[in-house]
Amino acid sequence: MRIVIVGGGASGMMCAIAAAKFGSDVTLLEKNEKLGKKIYITGKGRCNVTNFCSAQEFLNNVVSNEKFLFSAINKFSPYDTYDFFQNYLSLKIERGNRVFPESDKSSDVIKSLEKAMTEYGVKVVLNCCVNAVKGTEFDYKIYTDCGEYVADRVVIATGGKSYPSTGSTGDGYKIAKSFGLKLIDPKPALCPIITKQAVKEIEGITLKNVELSAYSNGKLIRKEFGEMLFTANGVSGPIALTISSFINREKNVLLKLDFKPALNFETLDARIVRELNDPNRKVLKSVMRSLLPERLVRYLLRICNLSGDKPTSQVTKSDRICIVNTLKGLEFDVRSLAPFEQAIITSGGIAVDELTPQMESRKRKGLFFVGETVDVDALTGGFNLQIAFSTGYVAALKASQVKG
Ligand SMILES: Cc1cc2nc3c(=O)[nH]c(=O)nc-3n(C[C@H](O)[C@H](O)[C@H](O)COP(=O)(O)OP(=O)(O)OC[C@H]3O[C@@H](n4cnc5c(N)ncnc54)[C@H](O)[C@@H]3O)c2cc1C
Repeated sequence: MRIVIVGGGASGMMCAIAAAKFGSDVTLLEKNEKLGKKIYITGKGRCNVTNFCSAQEFLNNVVSNEKFLFSAINKFSPYDTYDFFQNYLSLKIERGNRVFPESDKSSDVIKSLEKAMTEYGVKVVLNCCVNAVKGTEFDYKIYTDCGEYVADRVVIATGGKSYPSTGSTGDGYKIAKSFGLKLIDPKPALCPIITKQAVKEIEGITLKNVELSAYSNGKLIRKEFGEMLFTANGVSGPIALTISSFINREKNVLLKLDFKPALNFETLDARIVRELNDPNRKVLKSVMRSLLPERLVRYLLRICNLSGDKPTSQVTKSDRICIVNTLKGLEFDVRSLAPFEQAIITSGGIAVDELTPQMESRKRKGLFFVGETVDVDALTGGFNLQIAFSTGYVAALKASQVKG
């Protein structure tokens, strides 16, 4: 089988390796001067290559269309990814079952994939941008900057739109559209959130053990507990990134930040009363400093229209109610998500009902879409690279006409 794969990222390379291993004649076309530019920046340069967990645990971490991934993940599971890479490099498992190369170098992951491609005889063409794909089953023409290619099967592995500087500029969507495939509007995901309220003065403050909840038109969408930080124009950090993946298809989103999730309203109020009665605390701001970082104290007191210099003896019950309400649910209206340039992944893409579980177009036999081109996305922890590897692998099986 002659297979052309468009895109030399995680999904394209795994697909190329598997297809060549199954006996296909594989050519991989990559528009950059090198392979795996995005892999290079993954996991802060360490590459969290997968998550050492069962297929079911994996699916629990998929945000969009987890059922669609059932077959792919069972055919090529996180354990298979682990075994594959172990043939080429040492791995280690960290907190939350995150798998990294022992060397902490993402470049070693890229080298492993390159080595496997060489081993199985994949032809790699760099600096080769694919502009269009035409044709039908067993007879595809691939039009590129470096000439025309013909293939029996074509796999589109061009990624989404996030971090476009790595080469993922949404080219696969144009190819899908040219074949009449339905697209779900691509949105940034795992990205910072921009708020309508100004937060510049609290920029850089990191909070631990807080709870962030997102509501759309009053309905709770998602609640996350953990660490977050304020940026120049909104919120970021682990729990904000997770929340972003659940609100990117929602309108009128409100965030509520609970600074003290371990305490309910009454216990928090009782604690404030205790602090107010402490003879060492003369003014309100010294009470607040026992609860929050300095810059946040000013920010919160302004919301309640209170002066930090108000003597503790003059703080009223209604002052306390406002403080506690703000500490238990500081509200931010969401203006937008950060742009694709700052989004770890893209949510949306080729609609899953356009594809078989082997990633083949239902309309155009022999045309496959894998990895981030497809409307599937997951949380952080190695799950997104696993999606790329699993979908690339099952496409290779089908494209090479191997019974899986
Ligand atoms: C900063 C950052 C950190 C991340 N960290 C992790 C992590 O630690 N763990 C994890 O699981 N996931 C992580 N991800 C997500 C993960 O990197 C992606 O989900 C995954 O790389 C997607 O693989 P892909 O093959 O679908 O697409 P991509 O990796 O985007 O690859 C697409 C390739 O296609 C090429 N291409 C595009 N258009 C054309 C064309 N017209 N012709 C030829 N070639 C073309 C591109 O140049 C690119 O090389 C991270 C993402 C980012 C941005």
